Amino acid sequence: MARVYNFSAGPSALPESVLRQAADEMLDYQGCGHSVMEMSHRSKVFQSIIDGARDLVKELYNVPDNYKILFVQGGASTQFAAIPLNFLNKSGKADYIISGRWAKMAYKEAQKYGDVQIAASSEDKMFSYIPETTRESFRPDADYVYYCMNNTIYGTTFKYIPDTGDIPLVCDVSSCFFSEPLDISKFAVVYGGAQKNVAPAGLVIVIVREDLLGNARDYTPTMLDYKVQADADSLYNTPPCFTIYMCKLVLEWIKSFGGLEEMKAHNLKKANILYDYLDNSKMFKGTVVKEDRSLMNIPFVTGDADLDAKFIKEASDAGFINIKGHKTVGGMRASTYNAMPIEGVEALVEFMKKFEEANS
Ligand SMILES: *Cc1c(COP(=O)(O)O)cnc(C)c1O
Repeated sequence: MARVYNFSAGPSALPESVLRQAADEMLDYQGCGHSVMEMSHRSKVFQSIIDGARDLVKELYNVPDNYKILFVQGGASTQFAAIPLNFLNKSGKADYIISGRWAKMAYKEAQKYGDVQIAASSEDKMFSYIPETTRESFRPDADYVYYCMNNTIYGTTFKYIPDTGDIPLVCDVSSCFFSEPLDISKFAVVYGGAQKNVAPAGLVIVIVREDLLGNARDYTPTMLDYKVQADADSLYNTPPCFTIYMCKLVLEWIKSFGGLEEMKAHNLKKANILYDYLDNSKMFKGTVVKEDRSLMNIPFVTGDADLDAKFIKEASDAGFINIKGHKTVGGMRASTYNAMPIEGVEALVEFMKKFEEANS
């Protein structure tokens, strides 16, 4: 079977060349006679893989020297607890910007650990826009401010970095990870699950300012204490070796693509092809305000649930898979992560045009 265009929100498409390289190296990784899947995580050869992945994170994001790069497990959802356990440690207050479902879940989890408040929210309009914030939105003694940069489900993205003054800023970048340049120095912590843009599922990358480590609550599970992970260079226990290897291959692919500036241009081009069509279509419409539209997740609807269902079925039959919207939004969502080629989006738009013609 030919490869389909996979518009999944996550786990999502990986670059074809990366999958081919992984296949080539599956039985015998670079002459060592066994697979990365079977390798000791204490071996020299695995050490070079995890070091290589870490170096690429640092290089691509230009991570300053006073930050640690951690490879941890449990998905982004586990970090919803790890963040307050590690950083809610002075006033016990934290302020959350609620721009979507993942931010809201992080907020709910953090509430278990202290005085956690909502600083701004866009829930009043089904998260169809990004809330505005100023320094005055946050309590000056908050231990940190938290937000989610790209809202995977609703298809909005922050085009600004919230100004929090001296308050450490924590950001979930799961669904826009390595999709464009980011000034890491503006953040205390940036973290993301790998399965949207960086690797298969099973890995979270945490980029954390070193001076914030070492103050986790004493009952913090050892595995969730970022200081423990940092001191062990992410090898405190058995890490997800194969996923870290895949991460390294994907980051090498991004580097050979020209880095994050080039990746942004590529992502902008794809998103504009689809948004231009949506803005001109009489049948399909985007669901969020134009200013805050995501380059990664593009939800749209026809306004008729039966027609949406027909479209999803016919699109899937034609090789455009996983285009159904999240259950809380309905309609469709095309996720156009890094690995989606321009041809995939062009082909989808052609298919939508034909569908519009045939059904109106
Ligand atoms: C997918 C996603 C999550 C949840 O990730 P898990 O690894 O499944 O826990 C959290 N935040 C954002 C922005 C996401 O896109």
